[in-house]
Amino acid sequence: MFEKILEYQKLDGKLRNLKRELDNNPAKQNLEKIKAIGKDSQNKLIELENKAKTAIADHAKYKAEYEKVVTQLNAINKTSVDSMTEEQINDNLEKANALVNVLVSLERNLSSQAKLVEDILKNFEICRNNIVINKQKYTQCKAECDKFEENSKPQFEEIKKQMLEMEKDIDKNLLAKYKHCRQDKKFPVFVPLNNNSCGGCSMEISAALMNKLKADGYLECEQCRRYIYL
Ligand SMILES: [Zn+2]
Repeated sequence: MFEKILEYQKLDGKLRNLKRELDNNPAKQNLEKIKAIGKDSQNKLIELENKAKTAIADHAKYKAEYEKVVTQLNAINKTSVDSMTEEQINDNLEKANALVNVLVSLERNLSSQAKLVEDILKNFEICRNNIVINKQKYTQCKAECDKFEENSKPQFEEIKKQMLEMEKDIDKNLLAKYKHCRQDKKFPVFVPLNNNSCGGCSMEISAALMNKLKADGYLECEQCRRYIYL
């Protein structure tokens, strides 16, 4: 009764190992890493773009302020002092000095802003180059992965075909139980009895259940839900 389903399970195990080999293939793992790096670089690029926008807007703001102060200063300088009282002249001088101080501070801001924009542009360039290099790596790695998958495909298909063929001769009830269990990613599904214990999880089988196992030929383990056979 169990020979066929056990044979089927063996093939399923082979299929499982093949899948695992595919997943553990260094090229595939590398591909995942490359994808993550690409995503990171794209996010960084967006971040830099936003930083650049802010920096450019700030620069324009400082520049406009600077020009405004220069105009104010020019106006003061052009004013004729001939008809002014000494007090008015001193007052004007004070105003001019204050404006010069504002200009100095704005110049400092403009210069640090220019440095910031320069840094952003530099990083932007680095980031864009990294993306180009990463894309090349991706293409290369993807080709390796595809080749690896392509190579194991015939073996894959052959096992699947054999399994499908076998399904015709397997007890429908057992097959349904098997498939249901596999959906929960359990493997193996059918395990031998091992010293009165489940061959999957080692839980001891009670005397009453042992009788049931002997009568039915198999028993669903209460703990791991695998099927124990004699
Ligand atoms: Zn068990």
